[in-house]
Amino acid sequence: MSTKLTYCQIESAVHEAYESCKSMKGGQNAHYIPYLANVDSDLFGISLCLPDGHVVSVGDTDYVLGIESVSKVHTAILVLRQLGARALLEKIGADATGLPFNSIFAILLENERPSTPLVNAGAITACSLVQPSGDEEAKWQAILGNMTELMGSTPRVIDELYASESETNFNNRSIAWLLKEYDRIYDDPMEALDLYTRQCSLGVTAEQLAISGATIATDGKNPVTGTQVFDASLAPKIISLMTAVGFYQRTGDWIYETGLPAKTGVGGAVMGVMPGLFGVCAFAPPLDEAGNSVKAQAALHSIMSTLGINVFSNTKYEIAGC
Ligand code: GLU
Repeated sequence: MSTKLTYCQIESAVHEAYESCKSMKGGQNAHYIPYLANVDSDLFGISLCLPDGHVVSVGDTDYVLGIESVSKVHTAILVLRQLGARALLEKIGADATGLPFNSIFAILLENERPSTPLVNAGAITACSLVQPSGDEEAKWQAILGNMTELMGSTPRVIDELYASESETNFNNRSIAWLLKEYDRIYDDPMEALDLYTRQCSLGVTAEQLAISGATIATDGKNPVTGTQVFDASLAPKIISLMTAVGFYQRTGDWIYETGLPAKTGVGGAVMGVMPGLFGVCAFAPPLDEAGNSVKAQAALHSIMSTLGINVFSNTKYEIAGC
């Protein structure tokens, strides 16, 4: 079956989602990172980027938010680019943990791999794998350069957030040392942790995340800059990781309900990828108990239902003019 979607339909689905969710209450800001606890809870925005680079934005989409765990997607792409799909599977894995993002228990339950680059343990391992090994500053430039290519513009570290996370990341320090104990980290553990903390502290806009989502949706070609950022064969790999674990212990419920592969972060952003159609980011700081933005989830759910689309459906979607 094939279905035509017009630009106007997509644009009005974004506006409808914004209007229907903007006064929604519920959830609370990430309280364990002091900087995030103090961000304005009423911020809310949605950006959606189409394959021709056209961006539809509504609300606070130029607010610079903490990217947090959405960055795990970008650095997993960097590891795929540098080392290939096989190495990522062998050294990190692609399995859902079914447990919270910062679970120590998950590490104890696993055998030889941290299971996925989209939870804290696997993301710290991913930072340890970034090349060139043994040179933290060069690794950081690789992480930032990859983000810049995916987003089409350079994100900047929010210094206050980086300081706030670095002073309070005791759980992540335990994770890094536990990975070392189990030989699941491939460079200096504290440097890998620092890279991870820095990448989580990057300030980005919903629009930048929507563009990076669209780069994944269009097989690695950034639709705004026109650059082929990564090999098209890697797109299904990264989308499968997002599908399997993007919402931590809530991932099954999310993908069952919405049919949208997506990744959340405790800064309040959710980045979604609809292959061939769009990249999207909804952002609002208050989170549910799993660490997923309440309003952003509702907004993306609304867009998918209004358009009647689903990544698993046997329908070929085509985008047409209005
Ligand atoms: N920097 C956060 C942490 O390590 C990211 C968690 C998230 O966004 O899920 O706890």
